[in-house]
Amino acid sequence: MSQQPRPFPEAIELTDADTVLQINWDDGAVSRHLLSVLRADCPCAQCKGHSPEGSLNLTPEQFPDIKLLDIAPVGSYAYTIVWSDGHNTGIYTLDYLHQLESSA
Ligand SMILES: [Zn+2]
Repeated sequence: MSQQPRPFPEAIELTDADTVLQINWDDGAVSRHLLSVLRADCPCAQCKGHSPEGSLNLTPEQFPDIKLLDIAPVGSYAYTIVWSDGHNTGIYTLDYLHQLESSA
């Protein structure tokens, strides 16, 4: 029997005409992330680089029309997101999503 990580999402949904990812956590917190911000904050090695010099330094302004095509759990600790620009290598951990400041 494995321990469910805390905090854990109770509900994840797209709101505001599919421009905001809203997460309701089991500790009562609610995260609201603009998709453009979430895309720019992609934590994968391709976007962030293996060192600061390798980072693409993405900004939300580069993704004005980004859509979230799919979001799927990775084990019980993270989600992977498929973006409308074809990018899908970002692993967004629950800790990362929970501590990320709401942008919407
Ligand atoms: Zn990425």
